[in-house]
Amino acid sequence: MSTIAVTGAASGIGAAVCQHLEAAGHTLIRVDLRNADVNADLSTAEGRQAAIAQTLEACNNRLDAVVACAGVGVTAPSIGLILGVNYFGVTEYLDGLEDALTAGCNGKAVIIGSVAGSHMVATPHPMAAAMLENDEAKALQMAEQSENPSAAYAASKYAVTVYGRRKSVEWGKRGLRLNIIAPGAVETPLHKASLDDARFGEAVKNFVAPMGRAGVPDEIADGVGFLLSDKSAFVNGSVLFIDGGMDAMVRTNTF
Ligand code: NAD
Repeated sequence: MSTIAVTGAASGIGAAVCQHLEAAGHTLIRVDLRNADVNADLSTAEGRQAAIAQTLEACNNRLDAVVACAGVGVTAPSIGLILGVNYFGVTEYLDGLEDALTAGCNGKAVIIGSVAGSHMVATPHPMAAAMLENDEAKALQMAEQSENPSAAYAASKYAVTVYGRRKSVEWGKRGLRLNIIAPGAVETPLHKASLDDARFGEAVKNFVAPMGRAGVPDEIADGVGFLLSDKSAFVNGSVLFIDGGMDAMVRTNTF
């Protein structure tokens, strides 16, 4: 059985992922702000380094997989926080665990992106470029000047997906696999906060997948289970949309 680090483990999709993986007999290292094995703030450079150090200690420098679920939505207290958690909190944590994954056998990672990221494929926001340059100071400066949390959220998810695609090419050559799941609306506290928000609630309520419902965290956890299993041994660098057809609805003639 495997040792797997899961960020955002205390709530929503991350909690469902933990439940599924634990039921399958894996050993988990739960990472979150609180109520976890590793309590750390992935929005700051210091917090990320602490999370990496504590994870490495907990797995004895040998890790089989990482599932990066931690994220904040459009109702986050600041736009900088959206970029800090959703992009840098994923990429710096994964980079810091790369050697531990290599030391394990057939290391794997899954990043929870979002269908929102694909909306930006044709014309990425300049904030996405700053993130992909790994220039956190520049990205945060742009965030300070922005008043559009939705664009920042989409940019963070676009950028983290591109990061994952780039990494998968490098990792594939080393026997590691990295895939991205792009969920549509999923019933979690993050989604509920958007629905309840006066600025975004109406738009979120009206943006419904062709299947006519939101997903539930277990449906995303099933996808994670597949991507970490040997059944997906030849799947690397993929973006798996678990979104009730939302991406197909928005980008019908492209893929
Ligand atoms: P959630 O709010 O239920 O869970 C997010 C978890 O991340 C929480 O436990 C929270 O404490 C943790 N987290 C937030 N900031 C953190 C920080 N600075 N350091 C460490 N941990 C932190 O939300 P969710 O809906 O389960 O979201 C999980 C992932 O799925 C996120 O990346 C989100 O963007 C993505 N996603 C969600 C939806 C949706 O509709 N729910 C859709 C697409 C993508």
